[in-house]
Amino acid sequence: MKWYQMSSDQVCKKLAVDQNSGLKQKVAEERLKKTGPNQLAENDKPSLWFLFIKQFQDFMVIVLLAATLLAGLLGEYIDAIVIIIIVFINSLLGFFQEQKAEKSLAKLKALSAPLAHVLRDKQWVTIPSEEVVVGDILKLTSGDRVVADMRIIEETGIAIEESSLTGESVPINKSSESINQDDLDYPDQINMAFMGTLVTNGHGIGIVTATGMETMVGQIADLIVQTPSQQTPLERRLAGLGKVLVVLALLLTSFVVVLGVWQGNPIYEMFLAGVSLAVAAIPEGLPAIVTVALSLGVQRMIKKKAIVRKLSAVETLGSTTVICSDKTGTMTENKMTIEQLYLYKQSIEVTGGHQLTGAFKSANREIGTSSVRDLLLYGMVCSHASIERTKSTFQVEGDPTEAAIVVAAHKASLSKQDKDKFRIIKEYPFDSDRKRMTVIVENEKRERFAIVKGAPDVLLPRVTTVMDKQRKVTLGTKEQKEIEGKVYQMAEQALRTIAICVKPLKQGQDDSSLSVENQLTFIGLIGMIDPPRKEVKKAIKSCKNAGIKTVMITGDHAVTAKAIAKQLNLIPSHGKILTGHDLNNMPDRELQEQVDDTYVFARVTPAHKLKIVQALQDNGHIVAMTGDGVNDAPALKASDIGISMGQSGTDVAKEASALVLLDDNFTTIQSAIEEGRNIYENIRKFIRYLLASNVGEILVMLFAMLFAFPLPLIPVQILWVNLVTDGLPALALGLDQPEGDLMNRPPRPVKEGVFARGLGFKIISRGLLIGIVTFIAFASAYQNGQHHLEYARTIAFMTLVVAQLIHVFDCRSEHSVFARNPFQNMYLIGAVISSLALLIPIIYFEPLQTIFSTVPLRTNDWIGIVTLSFIPTVLFGFTKSKEKAYNKKDRV
Ligand code: ATP
Repeated sequence: MKWYQMSSDQVCKKLAVDQNSGLKQKVAEERLKKTGPNQLAENDKPSLWFLFIKQFQDFMVIVLLAATLLAGLLGEYIDAIVIIIIVFINSLLGFFQEQKAEKSLAKLKALSAPLAHVLRDKQWVTIPSEEVVVGDILKLTSGDRVVADMRIIEETGIAIEESSLTGESVPINKSSESINQDDLDYPDQINMAFMGTLVTNGHGIGIVTATGMETMVGQIADLIVQTPSQQTPLERRLAGLGKVLVVLALLLTSFVVVLGVWQGNPIYEMFLAGVSLAVAAIPEGLPAIVTVALSLGVQRMIKKKAIVRKLSAVETLGSTTVICSDKTGTMTENKMTIEQLYLYKQSIEVTGGHQLTGAFKSANREIGTSSVRDLLLYGMVCSHASIERTKSTFQVEGDPTEAAIVVAAHKASLSKQDKDKFRIIKEYPFDSDRKRMTVIVENEKRERFAIVKGAPDVLLPRVTTVMDKQRKVTLGTKEQKEIEGKVYQMAEQALRTIAICVKPLKQGQDDSSLSVENQLTFIGLIGMIDPPRKEVKKAIKSCKNAGIKTVMITGDHAVTAKAIAKQLNLIPSHGKILTGHDLNNMPDRELQEQVDDTYVFARVTPAHKLKIVQALQDNGHIVAMTGDGVNDAPALKASDIGISMGQSGTDVAKEASALVLLDDNFTTIQSAIEEGRNIYENIRKFIRYLLASNVGEILVMLFAMLFAFPLPLIPVQILWVNLVTDGLPALALGLDQPEGDLMNRPPRPVKEGVFARGLGFKIISRGLLIGIVTFIAFASAYQNGQHHLEYARTIAFMTLVVAQLIHVFDCRSEHSVFARNPFQNMYLIGAVISSLALLIPIIYFEPLQTIFSTVPLRTNDWIGIVTLSFIPTVLFGFTKSKEKAYNKKDRV
C-alpha cells in the first residue's frame, strides 16, 4: 500500500506516531541520527586545494608570475624567489579571507533557512527544517515551503504550487482523504505534499513520510541545482578595472622598455624596470579586500538584525530613494488591543489593555457583558488564536488581530469551552486580497450559519440586515450612514476596525464563498489600537534627511493609516493618500504622475504593491519594498530591494527578498541603509588609498627614468609595499566608521562610477604628490650619498611607505583629513603601527637587508623622510574640499 492509499490512522500506525501528541523528542532524535539531516545533498564541493590554486588564476597574479619567471630566467634568482614567496603569502591570505567570507555567507544561508512547526511531546514547536524526521506531525500554512514529503491528514482550503517538481505553476487543491487507486503518478497524489513545493492557500497538517534524499525531489537528481555565487556589480566593475590597469601597465612597461633600450640602456636592466612598473601599477590586494569588506559589512548588518540574502543588495541599499513599508508590525508594534466595540447605535469602551480582565463601558458607565457576548463570541469562533495558560502567566498564540479578539472575549467571560460548542464545518481563510475570513459552523442545536469577519468597508456592501438589540432590521441608507460614520470615527482615532457579520444557512445549502459571504447580518464592529513603534518616527526623519522618502503601504483603512502616518510624521501637509480603489481606476500614466506626492497607500492588495513599485521605478526611483505574504513575492522581486520579515514573513516572501529583517522593524531598514552606504564609502576609501599608492609608485619610477636616475625602487620593495604595508591599512579602512554626514547626503545615483565625486582627482593628485616627494627623497639621498644606490633606495622605499601611511588618514574623509579624529578607528592605528613595525627588520636585520637591498638608516634620515612624507597630506588637508559631496541634479 502506498502512502496516498492509506487512511491517516494507517499512516500513523506505520510510522509509529500518535496523531495527537506527535513524536517523542527522544524518538525524533534517534530517527534523526539514523536518517541524517533532512536536506538535499549538495553537488560535490570543490576541494580546499582547488580553492587555493584558484587564487593563482587571478589575471593580475598570472601576469606577475610570468614576469617573475622571466626575471628568474635572466638570473635574478633571489628576486624571483622572494616575489614568489610574497605572492604565495598573498594567495594564502586571499584564500583564508575567501574562506571566511564563504563561511559567513553559509551562516547567512543557515539564518534564512526555513523552519518547521512540528508536534513533539504534545507541544507545537518550531525547529530548523533540517531536524524534521519521518513521522513528524507538521503544520502547513499559506506561504510555507514544504520541507519534506508528507501525507496531508487535515486541511482547510489548502492549495500547493508544485512547479518546482512538475513545472506546472497553477496551484493544486489538496485533500486529506485517502485515494483508492493503484499506481498514481505523484502529481495526482493530491493528499500528498512534496518537499520544495509551495503552500499558496489555506492551512493543514501532514505526517512526514520521507526526508532528505528519500523525498521525491531528492530522487530527481537533476533538480538539485546549486545557485552559482554571483559577483556584485561593484565586484564586477572592479574586476574590469583590474584588467584595464593590467593592460595599461603592460603598455606602459613596453613603452619604458623600448624607450630605455633606445636611449642605450642594457636590455636586461630595462626589462627589470618594466617588471617593477607593472608590479607597481597593479593593485594586487584590491579584489580580496573588496570581498572581505563586503562580507564584514554583512556581518555588521546581522548584528543590527538585517540579513542580506543577495550581496548586491549592499550596494543597492546606498542608492535607495524610496522605502515602501507595510504599516502593521513594521511601523507599528503589532500588539493589538481592543479599545472599542460598536453594536448598532451603541458605542462601548473596553478597558484592561492586554490583560484578560477588564470592563465594558457605555457612556462612561460600566455595563454587563451580555450585550457584547455575541459579537465577541462570533469573533472568537471565527479565529485561530488561543490563550495558553501556565501556572502564573498566560500567552496568546496566533495572529495579533485575532489574539486581540480572543483576549477581549475573555474579558466577557468567554472561554475555549464556549468556542468548542461550535463545530467548524468549513473555512474560507483570511488573506490580504479578500480582507475577510469566514467559517461555516454548527451550534449545539445543530443550527448552521456562517460567521464572516473582515474589513468593514469590504463587508458592508454585502450586508442586508442589521442586528438592533435583539431585532433584525433592514439596512437602509440611514443605518448604513450610521455604521459608516462610526467606522470613520474609530479610524480617525487610529483604530484598526473589523466588522462581524453572520448568515443563517440551511442544511445542504450552497456553501461556496460567493453564496455564504453575501446577504449578511451585521452584528457589530471591533476597534483595536496598534501603537506605532516608538523608534520609527526618528528613523523616518533620518531617512528624510538622507533624501529617502518613506511611503506607508497598508491593507488597513485609509483614515486609520492617515492617523498613524501623522503620528509618525510620515506625511507632509501636501502629501496625498491613495486607496486600492483609486488605484484600480487609475491609468498607469496618472499613477506615475501622482506617485511622487503620495505618502500613504491604504486598503491595497499585494497586486497593487507591484503597480506602485513600477510607477516609482518609472519615475527613476530605486525602491525598497517590504512584504510578508505569498502574494507579496512579485512586488518584492520587482523592487530594487525586496525586504521580508524574519518573524512574520512566509518562506516565499523571504525567498523573494534581498534583505530579511530579523525583528520585523522599520528602524532596521534605516540601519541597513546606513550600513550599506558605509560599506560602499569604505570601499571607495581603500580604492582611493590603494590606487593613489600605485600612482605614486609608477610616477616615482617614471620621474627617475626621465631625469636619467637609476631605478629608485626594486620589484621586491614595490611588492612589499603593495601587498604587505598597504594591505592591513586598506583592510582597516574597510572597517571604518561612517563619516558624520553620511545620512545627510542624498542617495548615491545607481549609475555613479567608483571614481565619481572627485575620487579620480584625489587619487591622481595625492598619487602625484607621493611620487614627487619620494623622488625628491631619492634624488637628494643619491646625490648626498655619493651615488650610494642602496642607501638612496632605502630612503625612497621608506618615504613612499611613510607618505602612504600618513595619506591613509586622508582617505577616511570626503572632505579633509582634519574633518575626522584619527583615533576613532583604532584598527587603522593598529594597522599603521604594525605596517611600520614590519619595516624595521627589513632595514635593520641583516639577512633581510640582502633580500630587500636596504641599508640601516640614521635619525637624521628619518627626520627628512617624515617631513617629506607629511607634505602630500598636509597640502591637501588645508585646501578645503570645494566639491560638494553630491550634486542635486546628479540624482535620479
Ligand atoms: P499591512 O501589514 O500591509 O500594513 P494590514 O496588516 O493592516 O496591513 P491586512 O492584514 O491586509 O493589512 O488587513 C487588512 C484589513 O483586513 C484590516 O484592516 C482588517 O480590517 C482586516 N483583517 C485583518 N486581519 C484580519 C483577520 N484575521 N480576519 C479578518 N479580517 C482581518
